[in-house]
Amino acid sequence: MAKTAALLPEVKKHFGELRNYIGGSWTPANATEWLDDSNPATGQTIARVPLSPKEDVDAAVQSALGAWDAWRATAPLARARYLFTLRDLMEKAFEDLSRAVVQDMGKTIEEARGEVRRAIENVKVAGGIPSLMMGYNLEDGAGDGIDEEVLYQPLGVFAGISPFNFPVMIQFWFWPYAVATGNCWIAKPSEQDPVPMSLIMDLVHRAGFPAGVVNLVHGAKDTVEAILAHPDIRGVSFVGSSPVAKLVYAKAAAAGKRAQCGGGAKNLLVVMPDAKLDRAISNLIASCYGCAGERCLAGSVVVGVGEIHDDLRHKLASAAAKLKVGYGLDETVEMGPVISKAHRKRVVGFVDRGEAEGATVALDGRGIKVPGYAGYFVGPTLLDEVRPDMAVAKEEIFGPVVSLFEVDDLEDAIEAVNRSPYGNAASIYTSSGQAAREFRHRVRAGNIGINIGVASPMAYFPFGGMKNSFYGDLHPQGRDAVRFFTDSKVVVTRWL
Ligand code: NAD
Repeated sequence: MAKTAALLPEVKKHFGELRNYIGGSWTPANATEWLDDSNPATGQTIARVPLSPKEDVDAAVQSALGAWDAWRATAPLARARYLFTLRDLMEKAFEDLSRAVVQDMGKTIEEARGEVRRAIENVKVAGGIPSLMMGYNLEDGAGDGIDEEVLYQPLGVFAGISPFNFPVMIQFWFWPYAVATGNCWIAKPSEQDPVPMSLIMDLVHRAGFPAGVVNLVHGAKDTVEAILAHPDIRGVSFVGSSPVAKLVYAKAAAAGKRAQCGGGAKNLLVVMPDAKLDRAISNLIASCYGCAGERCLAGSVVVGVGEIHDDLRHKLASAAAKLKVGYGLDETVEMGPVISKAHRKRVVGFVDRGEAEGATVALDGRGIKVPGYAGYFVGPTLLDEVRPDMAVAKEEIFGPVVSLFEVDDLEDAIEAVNRSPYGNAASIYTSSGQAAREFRHRVRAGNIGINIGVASPMAYFPFGGMKNSFYGDLHPQGRDAVRFFTDSKVVVTRWL
């Protein structure tokens, strides 16, 4: 159904100087440095974000520690009840939250609604905590009237550090599980779009969580350093770029903390000669250009196998050229800007480099102008004749720039996927069950799509990743998250 042009109202033009949420109160940061937070579509400042020093992190830790004893002694169902109240408040605030995501991050309103929906789904799944957290036992486990059982217990205070591209959802991969299992939480959202998590804390407050159970501290690198150095933080959940993920993982491990650290991505989408191409194209477009390519599951390289390549290039270029680029609050817009001026420069720089290294620019989004908006737009871009040794083929671009590879057969396609240092996602489009099975079995990536370009796991499945896309053992979401936030204790009992 064609959408009518409609520019939704802004929730607020300016969200002011952001404060931390510590011990159940909005607390001014002790910051000496502040950053401007801009709306990527307009370039205008919509908030000022404090770079909170270690005193603020410590204040959050002390309030969390103060809340912990009572919180862990609260019955799991009673803990879940706060989550269900929060779910209701998020449903009521659904549109406002989605519009704030558009204003601060730049994605389209429909993409923002999808993100907030995913956040709510994690709240619902974590609400099943009484069953998810159960231990197990074995009568006569050691024989001779000795029973053995396993209990899962919370560890204390955890912190979550998230990237800019999903300013709400990624914190929700972690914290509902941490809190449901009886831990306390400190959120450190991205300094590039911190407004939506501030709005979430307002809802957390209204849901009545006891003071100190959920806290928020704004900041950037130094705030993360303070989290990693704090002796009373038992573990960190991180998602961001690979170099930072690796660093956070190493520092957390050296300090004896638990860590689950998601990194960057360079996802390949393989199109076999027997793919239903006309049906695949819209799916490929959504994967490659959705969220302006700023999705860790986005397709970045499309691999045409055999004779399908020419048809694929032609259809992909003509579908991408039709995408409407603009401000995501306009319901008819299909692709928004990238996050910042600096990121725009980086993305455009990759296209320049690809061209200099011999790629053909089949569709060029470098010079796009969106009338009425001075933000950070890059139009859909397609590069053909890309060789595996080029920077555009190997490095994460994180923008609406897609490279085309041409290979002879499935074997070469699987090799291309496995050659990548990243392993977040990989997809195959085919009508052959055997090719799909072979692909699924052999490629090294955490999320596999079969005739699907964004292989996104629902909240009850782990969000995995391999190679440089994940450092750690237990993944975010679902049962893996429950295990990450709990420790097992074995009780051996002799009944006398
Ligand atoms: P980023 O690595 O720049 O920042 C992520 C977080 O780390 C932010 O909160 C930031 O304040 C903090 N940070 C930045 N530099 C730091 C440093 N030197 N030391 C300590 N902390 C630091 O990532 P980004 O640009 O915000 O997000 C985009 C990246 O996230 C992309 O690489 C994308 O692929 C990745 N990502 C991965 C997944 C996944 O599931 N694997 C999901 C979403 C995004």
